[in-house]
Amino acid sequence: MTGRLVHTGQVVIDLVMRVPALPPVGGDVLASTTVEQPGGGFNVMAAAARAGADVVYTGGHGTGPRGDLARAALAAEGITVALPPTPGADTGLCVVLVDDSGERTFVTGSGAETAVAGALPRAGAGDVVYVSGYSLLVPAKAEQILAISGGALLVDPGPLVAEIDPALWERTLARTSVLSCNAREARLLSGRTDPADAGRALARMLPGDAVVVVRDGAAGCHVVRDGVAEHVPGVPVEAVDTNGAGDAHCGVLAAELLRGADLTGAAMRANAAAALAVTRAGPATAPTRAEVDALLAR
Ligand code: ADP
Repeated sequence: MTGRLVHTGQVVIDLVMRVPALPPVGGDVLASTTVEQPGGGFNVMAAAARAGADVVYTGGHGTGPRGDLARAALAAEGITVALPPTPGADTGLCVVLVDDSGERTFVTGSGAETAVAGALPRAGAGDVVYVSGYSLLVPAKAEQILAISGGALLVDPGPLVAEIDPALWERTLARTSVLSCNAREARLLSGRTDPADAGRALARMLPGDAVVVVRDGAAGCHVVRDGVAEHVPGVPVEAVDTNGAGDAHCGVLAAELLRGADLTGAAMRANAAAALAVTRAGPATAPTRAEVDALLAR
């Protein structure tokens, strides 16, 4: 493997509280468990690192206890942190309430992870530069990302894609090599309901040699190359927690493309890794490369 995954997103700390039911306005409930864990861009990076990729985090991180937690988690996955900590600021906090049926609400208080300090580290020609839609919501961050000269942009627009400035989104699409999104986002972006159709429509918005991956839950994903859509079937499993499946899929897709796999092969391994991730409860449940090998050899 030659290139690295250069991750331009943000790692925050998730404060996850499990509650019997989400409280109404003015309500007050007791949580049964409270856990602090790395969130935001962390899960994509962890998935890619476990799949064997050399991963660099270029986002900010603070000097307080949450910054320490973020750095320790990144180090434990073998992920390189490119920037020094931002003095006088701590990493942001996302409060996540999860009820017994798995419904979630989120409130993010941003912090040092959004720091936009000078230019991002140069990407080499063989690098994949991961861009999340969340970063594109911060204009200064988006400009910093679009100024990266080397590397192939892998764009994962995320649920807030409709809120990205349209002109900025156009400029991002013009630079995109791989667009990876779920079926709902593909529908939002293309106006087409069928995920394969949506993928083909999205591919027409990108440079001619760019490819599209539309994640489609248990059905797997659809990949579009040269205008042709191919269905890559999912791996049947007993799903326990589908939260974060897309992150596992995207991280492994990037790792496999960096390894030189073709798009279909990369998507097959991404489906297998995401299938394993949904069999496990909790955060950062992406498997190692060996675990994916074992599943595919079954
Ligand atoms: P997102 O999490 O971004 O909404 P999806 O729900 O489509 O994306 O899930 C991402 C990937 O995870 C799918 O493309 C598929 O490979 C895998 N996956 C999701 N749900 C299941 C499931 N129930 N069984 C097997 N694989 C699944």
